[in-house]
Amino acid sequence: MMKKSAYQIQRSKKLVGTLLWKKFCHSSLPNCPECTMREKKKIQERYNLETPEEERRKEDLFKQYDEIDIPMKMDEKNRRHFVCKRCGLYATREEVSDIRYRLNQKERTRDDKHDEYLEWWSKSKKDKQED
Ligand SMILES: [Zn+2]
Repeated sequence: MMKKSAYQIQRSKKLVGTLLWKKFCHSSLPNCPECTMREKKKIQERYNLETPEEERRKEDLFKQYDEIDIPMKMDEKNRRHFVCKRCGLYATREEVSDIRYRLNQKERTRDDKHDEYLEWWSKSKKDKQED
């Protein structure tokens, strides 16, 4: 796992000129994987709070995930690199997808572990009752 500080850099002070260029940049800019993950968690928590369990649908949640828009800014000095204005993540497009992949993996493992723990917990509870 790469250290986060390696990605961090002071963000470029130069502003991009025309609106068209801005639009073009926007459409081709990757979303920050770390901020996106944080946003997803927030959306999920809110969704779980606001929606009764029987009305929850994965598609609704995914639709909200799709609306997350946290584009990174291109580094004017090193155009292969992108910087996130929120968290300071600094990475190439390849690194961004790598981080996104790792975060998704981590999230999955965490959920698995959680289930295992719950299983163990309910099992040990049962065992105790039988004693
Ligand atoms: Zn970020």
